[in-house]
Amino acid sequence: MSFSLENITRKNVKGLKSYSSARDEYVSDGSEMVFLDANENPFENGVNRYPDPQQRSLKAVLAMQKGVKTENILLGNGSDEVLDLIFRAFCEPKQDNIISLPPTYGMYKVLSSTNAIENREVLLNKYFQPDVDSILDTIDENSKLLFICSPNNPTGNSISGESIIKLLNNFAGLVVIDEAYIDFSSKQSWVSYLSDFPNLVVTQTLSKAYGMAGIRLGICIASKEIITILNKIKPPYNVNGLTQSKALERILAIEQVEKEVSKILEERNKMIEVLKGVDFVEEIYKTDANFVLAKVDDANLRYQELLYKGIVVRNRSSQPLCENTLRFTVGTSEENKKLIQALKES
Ligand SMILES: *Cc1c(COP(=O)(O)O)cnc(C)c1O
Repeated sequence: MSFSLENITRKNVKGLKSYSSARDEYVSDGSEMVFLDANENPFENGVNRYPDPQQRSLKAVLAMQKGVKTENILLGNGSDEVLDLIFRAFCEPKQDNIISLPPTYGMYKVLSSTNAIENREVLLNKYFQPDVDSILDTIDENSKLLFICSPNNPTGNSISGESIIKLLNNFAGLVVIDEAYIDFSSKQSWVSYLSDFPNLVVTQTLSKAYGMAGIRLGICIASKEIITILNKIKPPYNVNGLTQSKALERILAIEQVEKEVSKILEERNKMIEVLKGVDFVEEIYKTDANFVLAKVDDANLRYQELLYKGIVVRNRSSQPLCENTLRFTVGTSEENKKLIQALKES
């Protein structure tokens, strides 16, 4: 099976022309114009005008930082919107299927349900790595998307590059690598492999390392052809003006982001050291992200104990292969001290 974008795009999407908004039809070149084309209220308050539907300023800086062209980038209202657009562009409801690899991020399953797409789950092995042979046995001609979360949530580990390359080479659909935690990882982003694999899609977000979960900005990086298809179906003004300006400010101050990331990694290592000495902790999983997954004696009990001490962690026990696990997000040094104190008391 070889990959063909033509073959995997939904019929109705192929025929679509993207909606042309007022801001698409007249693109400002910076000169003083009187804008009477979009039925906006003319009184300035900072947000009375529609935002740039193509987020040009933001994409220009992101493209430079990620080493791609702006035509390789689509932005969305969080990666959740980006992932939903990928479903809607490539999966025919009640006909196609996707492959996901639990334990992993819950949105792939949610989006497959809301889009009426079958979700075929192939469990990770005990090292939280993909079982490539089972995945290849599970795919059929209606398998359109394979989601690989790396570093994986909730386990924290990166997915083996060898497995990913095998899957990219042998899957005739899109391999979507969710890199929400890539900025915490010592591993390289898959973005640099874009020109090698026409079926590679990478998603990233400003919600984690960049500290901007509140503004909702998701990033999709893929071939120009894939981005063109996604652009056809995205709502014209999907990234609002406040988000665009806040995001731009933040990515221009990239050193601050890097500083915060290295502090978080320092705190993560401290947290791991302390967890190693806690009686009820049975295993600490290797992490490339800003959280640590640990197996404990009784997750419900330990969760409640921490809650009682004012600390909210995530109980991931309901996920396959994650019985009695708690996921600890790395906080500030202060927050970490409180956690360490609470762990030592118990
Ligand atoms: C947190 C997270 C996201 C972020 O989603 P946004 O909608 O961009 O906030 C995406 N993928 C994974 C695996 C995550 O854990």
